[in-house]
Amino acid sequence: MNIIFIAPPAAGKGTYSSLLKTKYNFTHISAGDVLREVVNTGTPLGEEVNKIMKRGEMINDEIICKLIESKLTQIDLSKPFMLDGFPRKINQALELEKILNNLKINVDKVIFINITKETGLKRILGRITCPVCKRIYNLENPELTPKNIGVCDDCSTELTGRKDDTKEAYETRYDIYMNETLPLIEYYKGHDKLVEIDGSGTVEEVFENIENILGVKND
Ligand code: ADP
Repeated sequence: MNIIFIAPPAAGKGTYSSLLKTKYNFTHISAGDVLREVVNTGTPLGEEVNKIMKRGEMINDEIICKLIESKLTQIDLSKPFMLDGFPRKINQALELEKILNNLKINVDKVIFINITKETGLKRILGRITCPVCKRIYNLENPELTPKNIGVCDDCSTELTGRKDDTKEAYETRYDIYMNETLPLIEYYKGHDKLVEIDGSGTVEEVFENIENILGVKND
């Protein structure tokens, strides 16, 4: 069971991906994390990617497609995987079809997690993450608050805010989502793979919904 998560910014793709990884051994491929790894290399490409991400704009298709292809060729394809943040536009979806065909694999379901623009903004402004283990926390949500403020529960690293979690970058990210990412919904509906869920509930409620959709629940 391979899946794609599509959602507006801060709908919880990263949070649910990480739960699926821990609970059901899915491989998590996050476009944002892959790009942040490139930024951390400090190369000229990394600096360029950093500038674009800070503004909330999209990275060039060719770069992101190559990075995702390279991840897909490195993982164990006998295990289920989830793509989080890729594809984000029709062109990327078409490119993904080619990559998957070459690897002789399929995506089985596309999960669209829907939240309102206002909910997303609130979450963006409360989000802090662990730069080392990538765990996501949110000071706006008691379910997602770290035990000791500012420190990761899992690896004790100091938590940081994301550079693109500003009100200005959020506006850009949301506009791009409306114009470029939403058309993917129709695309995947046409392929009979789309399932829409309401992302405004608690993490527990939304995750249970995802488990039911995937038919993976084992307790
Ligand atoms: P969110 O889903 O909350 O917006 P991500 O971590 O998935 O956060 O993405 C952060 C940023 O990384 C995006 O705003 C964009 O700059 C870049 N990015 C992520 N995925 C893609 C993609 N598929 N194509 C181009 N740029 C991307």
